Amino acid sequence: MQTEQVNSKQWKDCLKYMSVRMKEQSFNTWLKQTSGTPADDNEFLLRVPNQFVADWINGHFGDLINEAFREVLGRDYAIRYEVNDNGNEDRQVSINFEKQEPAHSPAPKKTNTEGTPSLSQRYRFNSFVVGDFNQMAHAASLAVADAPGITRYNPLFIYGGTGLGKTHLLQAIGHRIVEQFPNKRVFYATSEKFTSDFITSISEGAVSRFTRMYRDVDALLIDDIQFLTGKESTQEQFFHTFNSLYHYGKQIVLTSDRPPREIKDLEERLLSRFSWGLVTDLQAPDLESRMAILYKKLTSEGISLPDDVVRLVADTVTTNIRELEGTLIRLLAYASLKKTTVDLSLARKLLSDAFPKQKKQLTISSIQKMTAEYFDIDPTMMKAKKKTSHIALARQVAMYLSRSLTNSSLKVIGGEFGGRDHTTVIHACDIISKKMAVEPAFRERIDQISASLLY
Ligand code: ADP
Ligand code: MG
Repeated sequence: MQTEQVNSKQWKDCLKYMSVRMKEQSFNTWLKQTSGTPADDNEFLLRVPNQFVADWINGHFGDLINEAFREVLGRDYAIRYEVNDNGNEDRQVSINFEKQEPAHSPAPKKTNTEGTPSLSQRYRFNSFVVGDFNQMAHAASLAVADAPGITRYNPLFIYGGTGLGKTHLLQAIGHRIVEQFPNKRVFYATSEKFTSDFITSISEGAVSRFTRMYRDVDALLIDDIQFLTGKESTQEQFFHTFNSLYHYGKQIVLTSDRPPREIKDLEERLLSRFSWGLVTDLQAPDLESRMAILYKKLTSEGISLPDDVVRLVADTVTTNIRELEGTLIRLLAYASLKKTTVDLSLARKLLSDAFPKQKKQLTISSIQKMTAEYFDIDPTMMKAKKKTSHIALARQVAMYLSRSLTNSSLKVIGGEFGGRDHTTVIHACDIISKKMAVEPAFRERIDQISASLLY
């Protein structure tokens, strides 16, 4: 990428300095993707992917960057941001609608409660887990919810695969605006509803009612905009709705399963408008976030599950949060139906029924080999009596992985580790789970071993 080319040694050194002085998640979200170079004697040019990142860095890390300049480069610089945002190159078209101070809304204000009956109580910010995979979309959503129509992030366009939290985030924005600004009207609809409302309004001769419904709002939240394809008159209607809201400084938030330029059958003038504000995405959650989501869900339901079961679910369902929750719910439902508790072996059985193809058949000896390689010890040490702490740890990790990745019983596992007793295996699993819970770096290492075994 272009940004790579201008990334100077100076900036890389500054990044290194900052990376150990801030949360890893923040670093990954905001700074990792930047590149920079001294522009002249006084200025340091920082390239960032979009305006939101520039604003965020400026607001949150300005001091740290200045400190890095001083400590690492031994001098001060003024920062100049350069936004490297390809999506916005046709923004000049917007000149007619360039937002000044929000103009007067043409229609009188109503209370905001009637406009939002379709917001689900479940979809709020406080039930939304934030991790590397969604931090920027979350931060942008909060920013527009706290200052709808006032930030530069208009429209806010959130895209991501199915079940990754688009609807949740969109509705959380709606709730938050309603709570903070009781006089503001929020309207949430899917693009299909927009289409059908429009078509109905035509057949009933009530287009002006439709127009009021969608334009007389302070924030319009349209879910799954990729479905607004086809009918030209609907697109035309949305185009005018967009222009009107934008012109009056009203907030627009859109979601889609793909970035604007990849939406098919949608008019170019709409697609280009979708990139005027901020386009941000939701990725698939990492393991840590999947676990956090499961724990959050359990807490909210007042239920608890053994850690190894939660871990198993998080390991098995990796790409879709809806499915992650669904799997958890199925486990709980089964347990309540059978009046039993979910332990690891039951969970493994239920999950292997649900996801028969996801797991390779692993053997204990392949786990031993891979673990030995990661710990840089000889595989025979897995069975030996020898016990330096490094070897003992490697052995415990291999036992833990054998327990969570194969269907072998404790007895069989113990047998494979030089004829050890099943209580030794239980003890090993406990030690490793605890260590993983308190040491993220250790957990990451274990995840890497699991991943190399599984994929
Ligand atoms: P999408 O609209 O992208 O298909 P949803 O917003 O419907 O996905 O999310 C699917 C499910 O996952 C919902 O139950 C939602 O509450 C949950 N979910 C998604 N993202 C998160 C998150 N970051 N934290 C907690 N739950 C989430
Ligand atoms: Mg959705």
